[in-house]
Amino acid sequence: MDDHRNTHKVGLIGTGMVGASFAYSLMQSGLANELVLIDRDTARAEGEAMDLNHGMPFVRPMRITTGTYSDLADADMIVICAGANQKPGQTRLELLKTNAAVFQDIVPKISAVNPKAIILVTTNPVDILTHITADIAGRGCCVLGSGTVLDTARLRFLLGNHYGVDPRSVHAYIVGEHGDSELALWSLANIAGVRLPDFVGVTGQAYDQAAIDRIFDQTRNAAYEIIQRKKATYYAIGLGLLSIVEAVLRDQHTVMTVSSPLNGQYGVSGMSISMPAIVGSSGVEEVLNLPLSPSELTAFQNSAQTLKDRLNELG
Ligand code: NAD
Repeated sequence: MDDHRNTHKVGLIGTGMVGASFAYSLMQSGLANELVLIDRDTARAEGEAMDLNHGMPFVRPMRITTGTYSDLADADMIVICAGANQKPGQTRLELLKTNAAVFQDIVPKISAVNPKAIILVTTNPVDILTHITADIAGRGCCVLGSGTVLDTARLRFLLGNHYGVDPRSVHAYIVGEHGDSELALWSLANIAGVRLPDFVGVTGQAYDQAAIDRIFDQTRNAAYEIIQRKKATYYAIGLGLLSIVEAVLRDQHTVMTVSSPLNGQYGVSGMSISMPAIVGSSGVEEVLNLPLSPSELTAFQNSAQTLKDRLNELG
C-alpha cells in the first residue's frame, strides 16, 4: 500500500447486514475516498449503494459504487463479509463447510486482480477462514481477521459499566477463537494500570469474582443472545471493522486482538487466531509476546487446537 497517498480505496465483498453496517460506518468516517460494493446478490449491493449515496450530502463526500472484481485492482484494502450467518443456537464453527466454499469462490478472484491489498476477513468462523484466505492468497502477512476485536469490545463495555468508567479506559483482552473456546486475559486486565482485583471504582465496591465470571459469560454468549432477539449482529462489528481499517489505512500501529496466522508464537502454528497484535499499513506487523499465566497459555493453546481440528476435518 502506498503510505504517502491521502486517497484510499476500499473494496467490500458481501453487502448483507454486516457489510452494510461497515459501509455505513466507513462513509461517516471520512477515511476512504472510494468504496466498491460487491455481492453475489447484485440487486442487494445496488440497493445498498443507492441508499448510502443518498446520505452523501450529510457527510464528507466519497465515491460509493457497485462493481466486479476487476474494480478491486487498485483497492488498498478488501473487506470480506460474504457468507452465511449464524441461525439461532448455531455455533460459528457449524458455518465452516458452507463458508469455506464461499471463500474458495471469492479469494482466487481477489488474488487474480490484486495481489497487494490488505485483506480483512469477517465471515465466520473467522479464524479458520482467515487461515484459508492466507493459504489461498499465498501471503500470510497481508491477511487478517476481525478475530476477537468484537469480543474485546463487548468485554470492555461490560467491565466499563460494572466499574462506572468509560470502556476506553478498560484495558482487557479476549483472545483465542472468536467463538466458544475464547478466553479473557484476566492476569493482564487493568484500569488505570491497576489490576482488577485491586481496583476500587467510584462506587467503592470490592472485587466481585461472581460478577466478573458473569461478565465473561455475557461476553462469550453475546452473539447467541442478540441473534435470538434480532436474528443477526452487525452494528458493533461494523464499527470494529472500521477501527481495523483505520489502523491499516492510517498506519497507526494500534494494538488490537485481530486474528492472524501464527508461526510458533505461544507454541501455536498452522492456525490463525487472536492475540493482541500491532496493526499498521502492512496489516499485522507483530503479534505481541505477552506474559500469560500458565492457565491462560493452556487455554489459548487448546482454543487453537479446537480450530485446527475443525480445519483438518474439512479435509
Ligand atoms: P447476511 O446474510 O446478511 O449477508 C451475507 C451476504 O453475503 C449476502 O448479501 C450474500 O448474498 C453474500 N454472499 C454470499 N456468498 C457470496 C459470494 N460467493 N460472493 C459474494 N457475496 C456472497 O449475513 P451477515 O449478517 O451480514 O453476516 C455475514 C458474515 O459475518 C457471517 O458469516 C456472520 O457470521 C459474520 N459475522 C462475523 C462477526 C465477527 O465478529 N467476525 C460478527 C457478526 C457477523
